[in-house]
Amino acid sequence: MSFNTLGLSDAIVRAVTEAGYTAPTPIQAKAIPAVLGGGDLLAGAQTGTGKTAGFTLPVLHRLSTDKFGAALTSKTSKRPIRALVLAPTRELAAQVEENVRMYAKHTNLNSAVIFGGVGIHPQIKLLANGVDILVATPGRLLDHVAQGTIKLDKIEILILDEADRMLDMGFIHDIRKVLAVLPPKRQNLLFSATFSDEIKGLADRLLDNPAMIEV
Ligand code: AMP
Repeated sequence: MSFNTLGLSDAIVRAVTEAGYTAPTPIQAKAIPAVLGGGDLLAGAQTGTGKTAGFTLPVLHRLSTDKFGAALTSKTSKRPIRALVLAPTRELAAQVEENVRMYAKHTNLNSAVIFGGVGIHPQIKLLANGVDILVATPGRLLDHVAQGTIKLDKIEILILDEADRMLDMGFIHDIRKVLAVLPPKRQNLLFSATFSDEIKGLADRLLDNPAMIEV
């Protein structure tokens, strides 16, 4: 199987090819068509399986081809944040955003990452530049929400990456607070390596008739 046959745009396939990947991993082969279809997804996948590209590639495709896609004529025009990735740690958030940036390089989509432990002002400036895909840790994201330095009312796709680790780290209340400020109509993707009752409860509340994949 090749990335070409999965329904991704040429710009995205080109970036993947340039990254040196010729064939999708099993999670990618399953997740990419599911996410392109627009429905919710519950994915069981460990780190190292290629899960990051598994959600990043189809999300980039959707954002560059939806109703805002026609307006993607420049990297700098102000657009609302349309995809939000929540990750448990700053390291993972930074790593995911690096991937998003790499795979988006032939599109005009912008990404940014925000996490705690560093100054908030550079992040405020970054957000003011216009970001299509934001990767964030929950606590710092809520700081921005509380300060009014971020708008999440145009989010179309929410991704919870390593959801089990986020719950282990006690982020469930923060996640609930984030969910409360997102538009109710959106696509939700939940990635987790393990499925405790707590994760199942979150998935039940968050996901609408999800496709389920496990690798
Ligand atoms: P992840 O599970 O997202 O942390 O990815 C694990 C590693 O697999 C990363 O170093 C990726 O760069 C790499 N990777 C992602 N997609 C592919 C692919 N289709 N073929 C080979 N390696 C990949």
